[in-house]
Amino acid sequence: MTAHRLGIVGYGNLGRGVELAVSLQEDMELVGVFTRRDPSTLTTALEDTAVRSMDALESMPGEIDVLVLCGGSKSDLPAQTPQLAARFTVVDSFDTHARIPEHYAAVDAAAREAGTTALISTGWDPGLFSINRLFGEAILASGDTYTFWGRGLSQGHSDAVRRVDGVAGAVQYTIPSEDAIARVRAGERPELSTREKHVRECFVVLEEGADAEAVREEIVTMPHYFEPYDTTVHFITAEELARDHRGAPHGGFVIRSGESSPGTTQTIEYHPQEESNPEFTASVLVAYARAAARLAATGEHGARTPFDVAPGLLSPKSPEQLRAELL
Ligand code: NDP
Repeated sequence: MTAHRLGIVGYGNLGRGVELAVSLQEDMELVGVFTRRDPSTLTTALEDTAVRSMDALESMPGEIDVLVLCGGSKSDLPAQTPQLAARFTVVDSFDTHARIPEHYAAVDAAAREAGTTALISTGWDPGLFSINRLFGEAILASGDTYTFWGRGLSQGHSDAVRRVDGVAGAVQYTIPSEDAIARVRAGERPELSTREKHVRECFVVLEEGADAEAVREEIVTMPHYFEPYDTTVHFITAEELARDHRGAPHGGFVIRSGESSPGTTQTIEYHPQEESNPEFTASVLVAYARAAARLAATGEHGARTPFDVAPGLLSPKSPEQLRAELL
């Protein structure tokens, strides 16, 4: 078996997760990590991983089959994915849902012109959740689709709490409403408001002398972030924050509930539980990197999303093996 040669662009939580995920795949080898920072300042998860500057990529197109892009969706990927798709086959996890059509167009133009393949918005949401929403709609034509997130740590909401005056440290968890999930599972097909679907829970360390009630009030009334939800704020010590809130768990539910004939309810549920959001997302990216390498090898150029990838392309197994073992 010829190994797929992968490079990682950007070394944050996701980049580290990709490094670990590649080490578990027998048909892949890691060429190295490429960073905008001084490579000598990075400590990798695995001892043997080479770290180079982004400039080193200039001379390496023949040495890398797929670049796994691990930059942030806010400002890194909108620039990096089209730029790098002009020279490499790439895969990213762009997750700003509202901007996916715009991102797709920019990446598609670059990849088509260069004759490369660019698989965008892989991961779990978008990614695996998107596929499960599509399955639900396509299979149960008369029905409703529900997405619930959590229990999980939301980086964006945690950052918003940390910016409140008087807050020394904080994390925020998104929690799906058990009552709402039970109603959906029961086939009720309820119309749920934002407040009815999720609640938010914050664990906050106060700065010395800060007014706890004022901090709580500023958090729970924060427009967009917390005001539309029922939010609970717990005040904890710095030691408790470090001890009890270190991981990055996440997960959620995609549920399709519908009727195949009047009175005959059908429900489909998909429910990943992630002890580490970045490591789970990274594992998805790596499976899609395999698919990207295969699409590129067969001359399928341009941008693609998880909707365009046949599931068999994600697996290291041959089509013959898959038919015999998993069909
Ligand atoms: P990070 O903030 O950890 O890393 C983003 C980039 O910032 C890195 O690629 C790195 O680039 C740079 N960076 C990382 N650490 C530092 C540091 N200490 N100092 C300076 N720069 C740093 O983001 P994540 O890895 O957690 O997430 C990346 C993206 O993954 C998110 O923006 C999100 O959009 C996406 N995602 C998608 C999901 C999905 O389901 N589709 C799920 C979860 C995340 P460099 O090395 O070049 O400096």
